[in-house]
Amino acid sequence: MENVIIIGTGCAGYTSAIYTARANLNPLMLTGTQPGGQLTTTTEVENFPGFPEGIMGPELMMNMQKQAEKFGTRIEFAQVEGVTKTPAGHFEVKVADKVLEAKTVIVSTGAAPRHMGIEGEEKLIGHGLTSCATCDGAFYRDVPVCVIGGGDSACEEASFLTRFASKVYLIHRRDELRASKIMADRALANEKIEPVWNSTVTDYLTDDAGEMRAVKLKSTVDGSESELEVACVFVAIGHVPNSAFLGDLVDKDENGYILQIPGKTATKTEGLFAAGDVADHVYRQAITAAGQGCAAALEAERYLADSE
Ligand code: NAP
Repeated sequence: MENVIIIGTGCAGYTSAIYTARANLNPLMLTGTQPGGQLTTTTEVENFPGFPEGIMGPELMMNMQKQAEKFGTRIEFAQVEGVTKTPAGHFEVKVADKVLEAKTVIVSTGAAPRHMGIEGEEKLIGHGLTSCATCDGAFYRDVPVCVIGGGDSACEEASFLTRFASKVYLIHRRDELRASKIMADRALANEKIEPVWNSTVTDYLTDDAGEMRAVKLKSTVDGSESELEVACVFVAIGHVPNSAFLGDLVDKDENGYILQIPGKTATKTEGLFAAGDVADHVYRQAITAAGQGCAAALEAERYLADSE
């Protein structure tokens, strides 16, 4: 029987691990399919306190992993299929080939990139459709590409892609970016980035080999349609929280974000805590996720002390 199982290895998960490990709770972390979480797919992180020169996202996550392991955290590569609470009051965490038992569970599974919902989208992933500029940008040198979205992610991806692509179209459904001013100004000042305002992508068009060749655009102002030639589409339209595997153990809002007890990371199920982007649709920053991870660890520690 584990004291605490932490599901997910992003900023929230690693911070929970550092705190619970230092409290001698010997935590077990389960990685999910994307060890290190969203920051492993980004480049430079300029706003995580303590790094005045910035730090690369993957390096920050490797540092967090080292720090968690230094205090005894055990990390297993496993995808959790479901969690249940037994009548005896502990949790059963189902992974592919076994069921793990724990007195408390901290859910820090983050959020996954949202797709456009265009027919056949899944099949195009890896053939000119992606949500990760840092992973795939270098494959598209000296060709035009596009980014869909108007938030910080879209601006960051577009700026990064100018290192490789001949041109980066930034396709946004409105005429004003949602991104923070610094990120928006940086993107719009880049001469390789051309904004395509008031437009949505309604279809992906492929060549004979099934690779992306262009997108079909529809104006959100007058409904007119056009085509834009691009070799790759980078979708940056936000994220969907990874909370489905929890079933009725937690309450969720209409977008799937886990509802916490106000002012806490506790959920409606005693002993089950939620931290980071899976429960936070407001801030969604690395540092706020880390803060929630710390809070979840302290709450789990108190819960265990009270139930002994
Ligand atoms: P976001 O802020 O939610 O922006 C999503 C963008 O996609 C919005 O511009 C939205 O348009 C657009 N969009 C949503 N659904 C769409 C659809 N079906 N079709 C077309 N466009 C659609 O998401 P994000 O950019 O991923 O950022 C998430 C959080 O992470 C934010 O809090 C952000 O500050 C943070 N972040 C920070 C940094 C950094 O500081 N370095 C970097 C990346 C992300 P509308 O504007 O019209 O709603």
